[in-house]
Amino acid sequence: MFFILSFLLIHWYLSVFAQSFFLHRYMAHRMFRMNAFWEKFFYFFTFVTQGSSFLHPKAYAQLHLEHHKHSDTEEDPHSPLFFRDVIAMMVNTAKVYTEFRMGNRKSGSTYIENLPTWKVLDTFANSFLSRISFCALYTWAYVVFAPSWHWFLLLPIHFLMGPIHGAFVNWCGHKYGYRNHNTADKSRNTFAWDLLFVGETFQNNHHRYPNRANFANRWFELDISYPLIWILNKLRVLRLNNAP
Ligand SMILES: [Zn+2]
Ligand SMILES: [Zn+2]
Repeated sequence: MFFILSFLLIHWYLSVFAQSFFLHRYMAHRMFRMNAFWEKFFYFFTFVTQGSSFLHPKAYAQLHLEHHKHSDTEEDPHSPLFFRDVIAMMVNTAKVYTEFRMGNRKSGSTYIENLPTWKVLDTFANSFLSRISFCALYTWAYVVFAPSWHWFLLLPIHFLMGPIHGAFVNWCGHKYGYRNHNTADKSRNTFAWDLLFVGETFQNNHHRYPNRANFANRWFELDISYPLIWILNKLRVLRLNNAP
């Protein structure tokens, strides 16, 4: 039981951190710079930690910038205002993401065109073989360590880790919580201490300051990714931009 719960927690946090740190803050917004070595390191880290639900970094960046550009309008790929439930919202999110990944939809921005890709890794990570292998690995861990079959009910969380995080962040972050800033969209800060989604649910703060690496704005707010980013900056793994 201890192993299974630890495995679930570790997978949860590594996966959501890869999403927030590499895909969101680096690829989509370039809140900091990294050299070629660290960029490849975190690209690979994202592949390993997201596993069966790996998101193609460039396609994610395109999808996410569409969200910022059209936030809470009908053009927004995942505004909770325009979908009857969270499943319908995620189905549309997957559809737009796939269009970007397959190259059937282009954003036409030079920022996106210049984003790094890793063709061999992208191709493998998006393959059925990679996704099914990760699912088999998670299942094997449960076969070996789960004390009873009831624990296997947690396996879908591992298989669909990325979409589960995305569903919570996109639905709750534009529907539930408080607002610090009078932005044109309906973004909200769901938690003052975002311990579950490592800062991603500070949607209102983030839409107001999309280039700021610290998603917490007020004295009582805590974005738990930021202290780590600050340390990585001190260690020269990355260089923070001086965003307003
Ligand atoms: Zn948002
Ligand atoms: Zn963003």
